[in-house]
Amino acid sequence: MRVVRAIAEMMALGGGDLGLVPTMGAFHEGHLTLMREARRHHTGVCVSLFVNPLQFGPGEDFEKYPRDEERDHRLAEEAGVDILFAPKRSEVYPRQSTTIHVAELTDAWEGSVRPGHFDGVATVVCKLFHITRPRAAYFGWKDLQQCLVIRRMVEDLNMPVDLRFLDTVREADGLAMSSRNAYLSSEERARAPVIRETLLRAEAEMRRGNGSIDDILSGARGELELLGLTVDYLELVSMENMQPVRCRTNATLIVAVRLGATRLIDNLRIDA
Ligand code: AMP
Repeated sequence: MRVVRAIAEMMALGGGDLGLVPTMGAFHEGHLTLMREARRHHTGVCVSLFVNPLQFGPGEDFEKYPRDEERDHRLAEEAGVDILFAPKRSEVYPRQSTTIHVAELTDAWEGSVRPGHFDGVATVVCKLFHITRPRAAYFGWKDLQQCLVIRRMVEDLNMPVDLRFLDTVREADGLAMSSRNAYLSSEERARAPVIRETLLRAEAEMRRGNGSIDDILSGARGELELLGLTVDYLELVSMENMQPVRCRTNATLIVAVRLGATRLIDNLRIDA
């Protein structure tokens, strides 16, 4: 596996049948699944490893975000990655006066709790697409709003990239894998599976027609709060535009909670 730090070098290697997996490192099975899937489909696989300062707000966890490049290097190599593109901050942002803003999809949910977050995401992903010129790029549905924002950017700006979205990889007890799970104390980690369980229960109630969707959603919020989690949002939204919906076609339950000092998100696709 080749480690590339310079944009010029990456641009010279990019293009052709390249599959790109953008990441911020601290790899877990979720990241590795994206890499292995890219490996199955392309002659070249590039993983970018860059903790993107532009997508962190003031007071967020940019400084303490888990970083372990040596371990990431080993795991990417084992997953069959050809290029690990790990540029320095000054290489990616010698300055940044141009940003990408995807309107409509970015105001609510993660966007309202984390203002500017999706501008940072869209801008870095756009740069990575230009730098690597991938045939396809791989993302996880775990970050549902991010997937829809990137999909909209690619459509609106006619970017010649195929997008592949993969299902959320979970721990045995159902907790969505996330680099941020490392922040949880053992007591918080033991409580965390309730996030997924609550979504599954809400989905089952909707399927059975157990009360109105509004009542089911507020019941689910209440269950999480009762267990000491702070619910930023728990909603049923459209897969097209992330607006709240009260029908079960093409809809997804989305949730963001704070468990102690850690913010966790998850979602559950509802199939009517
Ligand atoms: P991150 O390093 O957190 O920016 O994530 C890099 C990519 O991995 C993004 O496309 C995420 O959506 C995806 N990802 C993160 N966690 C998971 C997971 N548990 N299952 C599948 N994909 C994931």
